[in-house]
Amino acid sequence: MKGFAMLGINKLGWIEKERPVAGSYDAIVRPLAVSPCTSDIHTVFEGALGDRKNMILGHEAVGEVVEVGSEVKDFKPGDRVIVPCTTPDWRSLEVQAGFQQHSNGMLAGWKFSNFKDGVFGEYFHVNDADMNLAILPKDMPLENAVMITDMMTTGFHGAELADIELGATVAVLGIGPVGLMAVAGAKLRGAGRIIAVGSRPVCVDAAKYYGATDIVNYKDGPIESQIMNLTEGKGVDAAIIAGGNADIMATAVKIVKPGGTIANVNYFGEGEVLPVPRLEWGCGMAHKTIKGGLCPGGRLRAEMLRDMVVYNRVDLSKLVTHVYHGFDHIEEALLLMKDKPKDLIKAVVIL
Ligand code: NDP
Ligand code: ZN
Repeated sequence: MKGFAMLGINKLGWIEKERPVAGSYDAIVRPLAVSPCTSDIHTVFEGALGDRKNMILGHEAVGEVVEVGSEVKDFKPGDRVIVPCTTPDWRSLEVQAGFQQHSNGMLAGWKFSNFKDGVFGEYFHVNDADMNLAILPKDMPLENAVMITDMMTTGFHGAELADIELGATVAVLGIGPVGLMAVAGAKLRGAGRIIAVGSRPVCVDAAKYYGATDIVNYKDGPIESQIMNLTEGKGVDAAIIAGGNADIMATAVKIVKPGGTIANVNYFGEGEVLPVPRLEWGCGMAHKTIKGGLCPGGRLRAEMLRDMVVYNRVDLSKLVTHVYHGFDHIEEALLLMKDKPKDLIKAVVIL
């Protein structure tokens, strides 16, 4: 089979590989729609995972099951499925401890285009199919459904980590597709005021659509002074980080009230340490909580998110600005995520 792969750092290309085979509990899936992720860009162009040779990229897909192992009970060839980007090893102690994302190692619940071939191939392998797949509703557009696999679960996880109380003031730092889903998640969790930080108009419009009450352009001056002005010096109850570099951590600590929460879903690619400003940290005593998490995966999570789409709690169509048709467009779609043109939120390739 062919697949679009990372050949090495900064090197992309099509390769031929053996079609994967299903173990007893696994499935082989043919992708019907895939979406490139900002994380694929970190992987290839920043070497975020170290050098990977000839690894098929991509971790966001919906598809059709073509083969299942002998022990798979709930899925069969022909089923159309949502494939969460995180596919944990459910028989692991980390799962028992409540951290499926880290099953069998830190961040090891994320497998596609990390340490096994991803979904930009003619076929891909899914471990523990009964626990890691969800049925795709017949009438859900493929380009929307593929947003469940990563953008929705990640952005919503930001809102979950932020422990949002009814009426809370929340800042969402970064409003790419992940931050936009954090805005939507914060609204659903009952936030009163949602301050969204970004610059590109297409994202600003979408942020308003998803529930942002205030917009801050980080290019107009320091985020902290803009947010402190907006909140009359009080700050916010929670800050969700979904963009920016290491400095955004310091910003988040500065803008969160004593007792508030900083919830990170951003990937920090540089520096040995992240800054925590001493004074705004209350010299260590401000009761500000810092959390950061990888997106939850698995069947139950995917089914619950899917139902929020089915029952019109969230409209994912606003995230998808570019739709291509055919394998040949995967490279173009991926490079869009690198270049981030003005009109882009997310690109999808229908296969
Ligand atoms: P995008 O690049 O599309 O969005 C980033 C956002 O951050 C944009 O709104 C951008 O503004 C804004 N931004 C850029 N620089 C700054 C700054 N200095 N201060 C404040 N805001 C800034 O990324 P995605 O939404 O696709 O992904 C966000 C992050 O989440 C990435 O790091 C990605 O790797 C990570 N991720 C994490 C996952 C997890 O499981 N935890 C899963 C998936 C992704 P604008 O473009 O408008 O100028
Ligand atoms: Zn991703």
